[in-house]
Amino acid sequence: MSSPIIITIDGPAGTGKSSAALMLADRLGFDMLDTGAMYRAVALLAIESKIDPHDEARLAIAMDRTTLDVDFSSRPPVIRLGERDVHHRIRDADVTGIVSLIASHHEVRDRLVRAQRQVALQHDRLVTEGRDQGSVVFPDATVRVWLDARPQVRASRRTEELRARGEQVDEERVLAEIIERDSSDRGRAEGPLQCPTGAAEIDTSDMTFESVVTELERLVRARLNESNIRCGGCA
Ligand code: C5P
Repeated sequence: MSSPIIITIDGPAGTGKSSAALMLADRLGFDMLDTGAMYRAVALLAIESKIDPHDEARLAIAMDRTTLDVDFSSRPPVIRLGERDVHHRIRDADVTGIVSLIASHHEVRDRLVRAQRQVALQHDRLVTEGRDQGSVVFPDATVRVWLDARPQVRASRRTEELRARGEQVDEERVLAEIIERDSSDRGRAEGPLQCPTGAAEIDTSDMTFESVVTELERLVRARLNESNIRCGGCA
């Protein structure tokens, strides 16, 4: 059996990580894990179970009583809370509003980090994206990437995305929320948003989506070649 190949993509909100990770995974023939969706599903669990998002102990109990699965039979994979596919619902504003607070709790991170490592054991060709994938969850990943962009650019992309979903949004408000969420993600004690040491850094502010994916693919293929890693099932 060939060794696992894990590619981590981290960065702040609105850098286009999920779309770029999915397209990169498609080009390589890898699976893709959106870890933000897992934190969002826990936020939804708190909302639906009427748990105060500050109440870490109750959240931990609720997580242990339900299942949170990533269903890889769909592409992109969908997230299931219990039996339900919640991949649309977790993008709603009420979830986005509390997810960063939910993600600051040790009991939540500990469970999700374990779940993410478990996914990697079952999917040994994996592109995984989030905030702490290269720094905490997979520090020995084959390739670690940090994607960033100027806040204004990220707000404008996120606004377009939300409008495409039929939501009425104000770009200035989206910018304020992004800045607030980044600051909370950077400031937490555990798994803070930070560029992993030694990660390849890409500022996507002035790049097209296509050129970001092409650069990611170039980076990955160069690293595999240089380390003499045989890709096995790579496309
Ligand atoms: O990527 P997305 O915007 O969906 O992530 C939602 C939130 O989940 C982030 O703002 C962050 O608080 C949390 N998150 C995290 N660690 C990850 C992925 C997401 O703390 N690996």
